[in-house]
Amino acid sequence: MSCIRSAYIHIPFCVSKCLYCDFTSFSASESQIDRYVEALILEMRRFAEFESIQSAGVLPALKTLYIGGGTPSLLSNNHIFRIVDTVRALFGFVPDPEITVEMNPNTSGIDFLNSFIEAGGNRVSLGVQSLDEDLLASMGRAHTAQEALDAIGLIQQAGILNISCDLIIGLPNQKIDQVISDIDILVQKGIRHISVYSLSLEEGTVFAQRYAESIERLMPEDYERKMYHAVRNHLISLGYRHYEISNFAIPGFESRHNSMYWSASEYYGFGLAAHSYVHSNRIGHIEDLDTYLSNVTGNPEALVSECVSIDVEEEQKEFFLLGLRMIDGVSVNHFIERFGKLPEDLFRILEKHVSDGLLEHQFDRYYLTLKGLDFANLVFRDFV
Ligand code: SF4
Repeated sequence: MSCIRSAYIHIPFCVSKCLYCDFTSFSASESQIDRYVEALILEMRRFAEFESIQSAGVLPALKTLYIGGGTPSLLSNNHIFRIVDTVRALFGFVPDPEITVEMNPNTSGIDFLNSFIEAGGNRVSLGVQSLDEDLLASMGRAHTAQEALDAIGLIQQAGILNISCDLIIGLPNQKIDQVISDIDILVQKGIRHISVYSLSLEEGTVFAQRYAESIERLMPEDYERKMYHAVRNHLISLGYRHYEISNFAIPGFESRHNSMYWSASEYYGFGLAAHSYVHSNRIGHIEDLDTYLSNVTGNPEALVSECVSIDVEEEQKEFFLLGLRMIDGVSVNHFIERFGKLPEDLFRILEKHVSDGLLEHQFDRYYLTLKGLDFANLVFRDFV
């Protein structure tokens, strides 16, 4: 049996829907949130009982827990405490685990953070996206720039210094100077982890509809790439390590939870629309709240919307595809340790990508070049 050391919990509630967002998230009443938390706790209990039987009563302690969404900071103090505490009781944590909660500005106060810390939480990922009021409004974000800065102050006041902030680049009318200025403000505020995501138009979102017929209103691709490189160079000049395509951190503050995904490790996923990778199966949960609430007690199988068995060939591809997201890339020695084979014998395409200048092969690692960062999807396509 594989040793699973991470868990993800999905909280699907938001104040309102951002115009670019296709995550499973929606507004809900207090009583729906209450019922969801009860169902979630029940789902985790049942799953842990089942896992415990499979593993002769010994479940490995978790190194990371990530409570994402949605907006988990819409939960009450009691909810957040109970969720973390339940995970601790069922699975246990290793010493010094990474326990992250996602927050959005203006959604909770110091009491929520104190409850999270009391339960063992130690990291917050804050959805800032931009510090420009016009851009925030254009995305339909439910907060101002000042509220984002106030949220950072509140998190620090509560005693959490391991804070990650998300920014979006490639927004219509966004300028490189604006993003650099946002980064400078976050750096001055002591933010040690910054994720910079390029806008992508997801099917079914207001943005996708809005720009489908007026594609010329979007940022030209070459300017978006220029923005990405400017952000990258700026953060590196300030001492941040570019450790994954979209992620930068002061050394020691890299996300341990996300690094687990990129190393193709297995993990538990709980809640609506959560995904798990358990015992060589990728499992997706259903996205309908009522179906989730009504089946969690009597029919847990009904919570699963898909289950794909990952054979060894698929696992080898995933190992490469996910590993190449990291700037250090994929270690050939690790690949051989895990699969007993040379990647070059399995993936002839590696040689072509090296000769096209998209991949570099140095010492025991394959990694994306600067040019490869701009054409990463072309490389990834060969491992899907
Ligand atoms: S806050 Fe996050 S999850 Fe909620 S709608 Fe906005 S982008 Fe989506």
